[in-house]
Amino acid sequence: MTDWTEPGAFEVAPGVHRIPLPLPMDGLRAVNVYAIDTGDGLTLIDGGWAIEESRTLLEKSLASIDRQVSDITRFLVTHVHRDHYTQAVTVRREFGSHVSLGIGDKPTLDLIHDPDVEEDPYVEVLRTSGAGQMATDWGTYTAEMTPDLTLWEAPDTWLSGDHEIAVGQRTLEAVSTPGHTQGHYVFADHGDGLLFAGDHVLPTITPSIGFEPKLAGQPLGDFLNSLAKVRAMPDLRLLPAHGAVTGSTHARVDELTAHHDVRLDLCREAVAAEPASSYDVAARLPWTRHERKLKDLDLFNSALATLETRAHLELLVARGEMTRTLTDGVHIYAIP
Ligand SMILES: [Zn+2]
Repeated sequence: MTDWTEPGAFEVAPGVHRIPLPLPMDGLRAVNVYAIDTGDGLTLIDGGWAIEESRTLLEKSLASIDRQVSDITRFLVTHVHRDHYTQAVTVRREFGSHVSLGIGDKPTLDLIHDPDVEEDPYVEVLRTSGAGQMATDWGTYTAEMTPDLTLWEAPDTWLSGDHEIAVGQRTLEAVSTPGHTQGHYVFADHGDGLLFAGDHVLPTITPSIGFEPKLAGQPLGDFLNSLAKVRAMPDLRLLPAHGAVTGSTHARVDELTAHHDVRLDLCREAVAAEPASSYDVAARLPWTRHERKLKDLDLFNSALATLETRAHLELLVARGEMTRTLTDGVHIYAIP
């Protein structure tokens, strides 16, 4: 089987091409954007990360199907993450393409532009999650970073609710799927049986949950509801943002749901043994498919793991299976 990150423009349905774009220094390795021929231009699902390598490869890949970047009239971006959103913004600046994004991601964009935010928002949430050292390290690590605000300009249209979007001869159903981020959208093409899934349903990995600068109340609950929503639709081929195209969205949704059921069980067991913070529970759980320990993950991944654990514990609190109390500024979970 060829590597899905191999450059090119790969036809997945008539007039629809998968174009993997590079993510150097990123564990995900590449992001798929999907170019849909509309008859008088291209609509892209996701834009890629605004870096030179990505832009060059987008040009080259489009050239292989006799198209160019200036043909892109519209971007339907699945969510605000840099590897999906930022290149849509830079291409729009040059060619005036129209960009849309889910309204649920507006708080994240607003936060990036808020001049009054002094401390990275993850520092406080890591602290209350019981990860004091991690919070300090995170603060040090992010203090040196200033986002390039020109990459984070607002979209032309905020998507809200579920609705149909005409793309050439096709009709895409824009389906709000909060979870990975609050503004996440997937786009279903029922005519050709395709689901442009963004990061909502990924074929070999699970999308991060609860890792948003503006924390959602129940990110895991939202994600599981959004999985159920996609499961209730007719089964479609899965066109993910990271990974190869697969035959069945339903099959992967079932695996993801089962994965989180197991993680919820593990959280319950960990807290039943002893009341604990999100950090303590994360330290007791295995991470990644290689079953690594929290202390062996780098700063970024251990923060992801801690916040994802927090999302699982918060869902168990919402279901009445656990209690949460604030002790010395740290949320402690217990079985009542
Ligand atoms: Zn993402």
